[in-house]
Amino acid sequence: MSTQHSTERLMSTSVLVIGTGGAGLRASIELAQRGVQVLAVGKRRKHDAHTTLAAGGINAALGTMDPEDSWQQHAADTLRESYFLADPAIVETVARNAADGIGDLEKWGMPFAREEDGRISQRFFGAHKYRRTAYAGDYTGLEIQRTLMRRAAELDVQIIDSIYITRLLVTDGTVFGAYGFDIVDGTPVQIHADAVILAAGGHTRIWRHTSSRRDENTGDSFRLAALAGARIRDAELVQFHPSGLLEPDDAAGTLVSEAARGEGGILTNALGERYMERYDPERMELSTRDRVALAGYTEITAGRGTGKGGVYLDVSHLPREVILQKLPRVYRTLIDLQMLDITTTKMEIAPTAHYSMGGVWVAPEDHGTGVDGLYAIGEASSGLHGANRLGGNSLIELLVYGRITGEHAAEYVTSRTTVRRDPSAVGLARTEMQSLLSERGTESARRLQREVRNVMTEHAGVVRTEQGLQEGLRELAALEERAQHVTAHPDIAGFDDLAHAYDLLGSLLAARATLECALERRETRGCHNRADFPQQDPALQGNFVWSPAEGVSFEALAPAPDSFRSLAEADADDSVAGKLVE
Ligand SMILES: Cc1cc2nc3c(=O)[nH]c(=O)nc-3n(C[C@H](O)[C@H](O)[C@H](O)COP(=O)(O)OP(=O)(O)OC[C@H]3O[C@@H](n4cnc5c(N)ncnc54)[C@H](O)[C@@H]3O)c2cc1C
Repeated sequence: MSTQHSTERLMSTSVLVIGTGGAGLRASIELAQRGVQVLAVGKRRKHDAHTTLAAGGINAALGTMDPEDSWQQHAADTLRESYFLADPAIVETVARNAADGIGDLEKWGMPFAREEDGRISQRFFGAHKYRRTAYAGDYTGLEIQRTLMRRAAELDVQIIDSIYITRLLVTDGTVFGAYGFDIVDGTPVQIHADAVILAAGGHTRIWRHTSSRRDENTGDSFRLAALAGARIRDAELVQFHPSGLLEPDDAAGTLVSEAARGEGGILTNALGERYMERYDPERMELSTRDRVALAGYTEITAGRGTGKGGVYLDVSHLPREVILQKLPRVYRTLIDLQMLDITTTKMEIAPTAHYSMGGVWVAPEDHGTGVDGLYAIGEASSGLHGANRLGGNSLIELLVYGRITGEHAAEYVTSRTTVRRDPSAVGLARTEMQSLLSERGTESARRLQREVRNVMTEHAGVVRTEQGLQEGLRELAALEERAQHVTAHPDIAGFDDLAHAYDLLGSLLAARATLECALERRETRGCHNRADFPQQDPALQGNFVWSPAEGVSFEALAPAPDSFRSLAEADADDSVAGKLVE
């Protein structure tokens, strides 16, 4: 498959999959099962993709615990929770095909939690009408990744997890491969492919506190797609989780599961007040994710936060055995990162950027991007979650659209009769890399990355205003200018510095898309809080779509089909009694 070409490595495959998390692996499996040659690449160890962090569970209306559940109800709950900004056709596809997604995992040996009689156990997650979240302890993502890795190995899927993709190769609106480099030895890599599936995650690492892994979710998908001619949808819609750790600095934002509140954890400010009384006296700590995040943010900005800029979450009043049994991961994380024993001491937390609901614009049928042969899936894509993600829906999306997109890409490459390649597209990607490696100035990518994160935290965090967003754009423009003077310095340890330079380019582009769309969404809806426009505006029930050349435009949404629209519009049961709020 690979031939040496002076100092550049040339590879070719029928379909290139960028990303080896759950989405990329599921698509690769589908292609291999259909006998199509596939190469999957990633910039991080394949056993340890971001997907492994997912804890709580994966949704499908299996009805194992509540037989009255249905795909229509799952679709309705998803649409309602999205504040009616999700694409109804994508919602329907995921809800209808979810059971098959779980079935595939089961067939490949996924160790789901089960009831005594063998049924897959399903639990409540917030805003679901029925128990429909399947799980494997609090390691659901890790078990999914292991299961998919095992199946991919059985099918001999070729995976290289040390290739950083820097540009997609496109000519006349058709993709013909990608360009990148080997992170270990720096060899430039040119990959020819008839189709490319982008599964490279989201952009949550452009905020200072984030539940993302280090060096992941830096907006690579946004940049790769946008420079290839695709568009970004809902960039401003980012879910902030209420409880991210503040320390240590290099792990700021690491998640404390909502199970900590679900089990009876108490939130207080620096004055010792149980502040949820002010925001949701009935549900208190069990209120919804967006409300608890907004409450914490408000306490901190009003000066009632801790010296380090957080609030307290305390579970120490719970029996030690309950904590060890119900919150083992939280207990271990705090010991590992802070040497703090949550059975005796309260945690300091703040809202953390958790999930990119926006991403690359995709068509509901096949997740095609509008660029021929280019598809996007998983957190890189958009359309399922709108202004708020229903917990457990992103893992099932990986399975459902991984399969569907793999199937479509297989048909696409099989039906192609001619291939066009353009040396100038390769030349552009090559020159860009050479330029980053040549002496351009003394700016450091790592330092600028931190500044991007400060700008986004300051001006596009949990609460936004016109003035703040405008200021954010001004500061971003200055960072874009300084980025022209970044020089990457590879060292004996490898080419991480070049990776950081490209992470920065992705982050700058994602930050611009986010700020520009956030400015246009002059309303408060779901995760997007505008202090200057505190109401929802019915005229804005649609999506903001962004591209570098065209900027922002508004797209209306198709109405949802009768089969689940009325269910979604009906008053739902918002009670959280007995439900795990994840
Ligand atoms: C702490 C935590 C808990 C969560 N819990 C849940 C849950 O309970 N239920 C649920 O449904 N969801 C949950 N989520 C969300 C869910 O885990 C993610 O949305 C999902 O795993 C994303 O999968 P993905 O395959 O799209 O991307 P990822 O798993 O992020 O994989 C991206 C891949 O792209 C590669 N990549 C990126 N850029 C490049 C590049 N330039 N070149 C080459 N490769 C590149 C990366 O190396 C990686 O292999 C949770 C998330 C977090 C952080």
